[in-house]
Amino acid sequence: IKGLKKYFELGGGLFKQKQQVKAVDDLTFNVKKGETLGIVGESGCGKSTMGRALLQLQKPTSGEVYYEGQDIAQLNGKQLRKLRKDIQIIFQDPFASLNPRMTVGAMLTEIVATHEIVPKKERQSYVQNLLEEVGLKAEAYWKYPHEFSGGQRQRVSIARALAVQPKLIICDEAVSALDVSVQAQVLNLLQKLKRKHQLTYIFISHDLSVVKHISDRVGVMYLGKMVELADEDSIYENPAHPYTQALFSAIPDITEDHKERIQLKGDVPSPLNVPTGCRFHTRCPLATEYCKQAEPALEEVKEHHLAACHYAE
Ligand code: SF4
Ligand code: MG
Repeated sequence: IKGLKKYFELGGGLFKQKQQVKAVDDLTFNVKKGETLGIVGESGCGKSTMGRALLQLQKPTSGEVYYEGQDIAQLNGKQLRKLRKDIQIIFQDPFASLNPRMTVGAMLTEIVATHEIVPKKERQSYVQNLLEEVGLKAEAYWKYPHEFSGGQRQRVSIARALAVQPKLIICDEAVSALDVSVQAQVLNLLQKLKRKHQLTYIFISHDLSVVKHISDRVGVMYLGKMVELADEDSIYENPAHPYTQALFSAIPDITEDHKERIQLKGDVPSPLNVPTGCRFHTRCPLATEYCKQAEPALEEVKEHHLAACHYAE
């Protein structure tokens, strides 16, 4: 992903000036085959928009996305169909993304048929095996989405994503709507499936503990930008960016009795009005005059550890 931007235009009536929301503002990073890249940030930081722009579900304003070396904006119809198969997305609300009028079996069989995954006579057993693989009974094939619990519905969504034998799955708050105990089960399922099918995940979540649990690398977003990107252990143990430090200081830690929580002043500024220079300067405890003017680049502070702060080192 190279220089990815997604801006939205707002308003613009007769006497009103158009306003621009910079939801995703110049993201550059890569996802390695076989890894889980966690993306964290508070709501509104642009992480979901990033996921959708990356898949071209929302056309990026600018920037390039390469998949297996190819610029996906340049793909022809056939290549695009392969991309739509190779990259799947799982959303937070499985109920909204499942057709209520179709049985799970019909829904999954249709997808398997569209992408010609297995011959017609094998489709039903293929789908039933998948349902068992995600921890449901083969009988789930005959049921409708409303007959399942939230956790089970998310398992159906996972089966649907898996049905086309994808390579990369984008999980956008995929466990956020579930009870904590169910969350753990679904996360373990995702881990198991990843190993078995050699999948790659982009795991988008506001939940820092969940992201820590599942990720190999973690990117932190603030107001449309990636402010830190590093291996999971490195970023959780030694966050280099003041925003990450504050964010992570809020994670309850059972090993430390009196962990100091860094309180940030004020709220996240509106993406309609992104601060000059370092966009975190309005809330940063370490901000200087220089920070108000110059925007820091995302640069290496040590091996495999990038941060966008003038003073990160
Ligand atoms: Fe804070 Fe300045 Fe670093 Fe931005 S560049 S995070 S304002 S110290
Ligand atoms: Mg979101």
